[in-house]
Amino acid sequence: MSAVSSLCGVTKILILLYSLGPCFAQSYSDSSYVATEEISTNLGEAEPRDNGLDLEFRYHDHDQLTRYLRAVSAKYPALTALYSIGKSVQGRDLWVMVVSASPYEHMIGKPDVKYVANIHGNEAVGRELLLHLIQHLVTSYDTDAYVKWLLDNTRIHLMPSMNPDGYAISKEGQCDTIHGRHNARRYDLNRNFPDYFKANTKQPQPETEAVKEWISKIQFVVSGSLHGGALVASYPFDNTPSARICRSSVLCSVFQSYAHSPSIAPDDDVFRHLALVYSRNHAKMARGVSCKSGSPRFENGITNGAAWYPLTGGMQDYNYLWHGCMEITLEISCCKYPPAHELHKYWLDNRESLIKFLAEAHRGAHGFVTDENGNPVERAAVRVKGRDVAYHTTKYGEFWRILLPGTYRLDVSADGYLPQEVEFIVVDSHPTLLNVTLHSAKRIDAGGPYYRPVPLPPRPPPAAPNSGIFSSLSNSFNSFVSNIFG
Ligand SMILES: [Zn+2]
Repeated sequence: MSAVSSLCGVTKILILLYSLGPCFAQSYSDSSYVATEEISTNLGEAEPRDNGLDLEFRYHDHDQLTRYLRAVSAKYPALTALYSIGKSVQGRDLWVMVVSASPYEHMIGKPDVKYVANIHGNEAVGRELLLHLIQHLVTSYDTDAYVKWLLDNTRIHLMPSMNPDGYAISKEGQCDTIHGRHNARRYDLNRNFPDYFKANTKQPQPETEAVKEWISKIQFVVSGSLHGGALVASYPFDNTPSARICRSSVLCSVFQSYAHSPSIAPDDDVFRHLALVYSRNHAKMARGVSCKSGSPRFENGITNGAAWYPLTGGMQDYNYLWHGCMEITLEISCCKYPPAHELHKYWLDNRESLIKFLAEAHRGAHGFVTDENGNPVERAAVRVKGRDVAYHTTKYGEFWRILLPGTYRLDVSADGYLPQEVEFIVVDSHPTLLNVTLHSAKRIDAGGPYYRPVPLPPRPPPAAPNSGIFSSLSNSFNSFVSNIFG
């Protein structure tokens, strides 16, 4: 039975096939997202005709947002797919719209990317900008060669609101309050993810659990989390080793001076680059002007997360360390919930950034890991030498590694195979395609088949530490990688 016909028999599917009837015609890839809860929808509900693509620059409540997304998916069935990854505490759907030339099916060898907005319910600009980004992409596909290239080669998942309950109680015009920031159970969702540096004891919330499930099922290559209240692109790490080391008052006083030091990720150069792509394509972010007197100014409009302020349980560190997805945090408005008449200006300021940032998924190296017979090797660990973090191959054996131009060595390993090392070059103009064949560790010898122990290559020394803290971070990455990914 094909995936398509088996799926058609399943009623508990979250993919919303609004525009394609009860069973869609395209073949369905398992790597696309399917959740297990039944969607509650009014699939047959007639939509007002004026609710289609006349997307005004005003705020849309949850029902209006839902109607807009459905209208777009009905009007552009070949470019969009709408699904819900779950529900908020108060039962609102956590909608995701895919925009791509292949909306229903992962394109093997081509990256999936995402934006998540409104994780803080009162930070409302990103929520509206994602609706306009959807509108822009679908209406430009036939006329804008760059958008066409992007949609032909990328699957873009856009979640306008991760916290619809918080948004529901937020108030337009409130720039600096925290009213509406949290979910309906008063949890800050951007402090609710598992944390590498410090155990996160906060009770996992349904919105967070839905996102964790989602990003475990789709290998996203890059991601942006849209916030408000500042104008800066902030990149991992958000948390810092000192939060882990500081266990006594004496130690805390020693490490207090590190509280606002950068917390350097193994891919710091790439994260800085990604943040700069956003800030430099933005109308004013790269100027680094502070929002108001007393608030910080950020050189080139970017900052390391912990250098600004450390936090535990953030979404961007989790994306990177758990799933090899390079997420950064985009603070796109000084006012968290500015008046609606300013939305058009925010769209113009961010339009170019929003598009160019996603295209960075095509930078660096990508390829496939296969066995001697050409079969994909799933969950092979892909490590770039000198960067103590492992990415893993998908069920198709795919991997993506965003890297800046240079020469690198890739270390690929998987259970039952001899590890393989490959040297490769990354250039600026196009991605490097790297196909790696792993050979089985089993050998036929005189005595018959036996399992030869695989000699592991010596681990490279930790990257040159700047201090004892960074040294311990780098060392602990090795054990972290083997614990989490091994
Ligand atoms: Zn925020």
